Amino acid sequence: MRFLITAGPTREPIDPVRYLSNRSSGKMGYTIAEAAIEAGHEVILISGPVNVARPRGAAVIPVSTSDEMFDAVQRHTSRCDILVMCAAVADHKPTKASTTKIKKRDATFSLELVPTRDILASLPKKNRQYGVVGFAAETENIESNARQKLREKNCDVVVANDARIAMESGENEVGIYFRDGEARKIPRASKKIVARELIKIFEKYFEKRLTKKTR
Ligand code: C5P
Repeated sequence: MRFLITAGPTREPIDPVRYLSNRSSGKMGYTIAEAAIEAGHEVILISGPVNVARPRGAAVIPVSTSDEMFDAVQRHTSRCDILVMCAAVADHKPTKASTTKIKKRDATFSLELVPTRDILASLPKKNRQYGVVGFAAETENIESNARQKLREKNCDVVVANDARIAMESGENEVGIYFRDGEARKIPRASKKIVARELIKIFEKYFEKRLTKKTR
């Protein structure tokens, strides 16, 4: 199968030297890419700025902003079987990035933010030729938030993790929620083990469904 995987944070420029971002390390997406390659799949990895070694055998497309990630995903979905949106895309960006460095001031000042374009929500809703896996990093009501995301973002599967365990860490513990209501859990383990389990679950879930669609 051909996997298209997004990983890492995005950076939303404030001015030429500053940006808004988040604590995503990119490790989960990179280990999923490695596990997919290990299992014999093709991988394109769209990556925000991270300090993780490139997975050997993956085609890596580096991006920085949410808009760049949006465009890269749109360009590559036609050639994938499974899209795994593991990236922690910024939810907001400054309304306008200053072209010059904003001078230090003693007074408080406000930064106006607008929502970024939601990559998952902008994918076609019907007749998709590929499976879509979204990720949810939450700190509370993990299961109900994940199920809501599954519906609202029209995903086939949502992998939910506790942001307090997963962020910048080598370990993870996830719940996997499927469109048909089914759910699975992978108990706390290294991201490498979690990634291998996830690939097996995706293979099994999408194999049947993708074959049906191409018939
Ligand atoms: O709504 P929230 O940001 O928690 O949703 C997380 C999921 O949505 C992840 O799969 C992430 O990659 C995706 N996402 C997106 N576009 C955005 C923000 C998040 O595709 N602008």
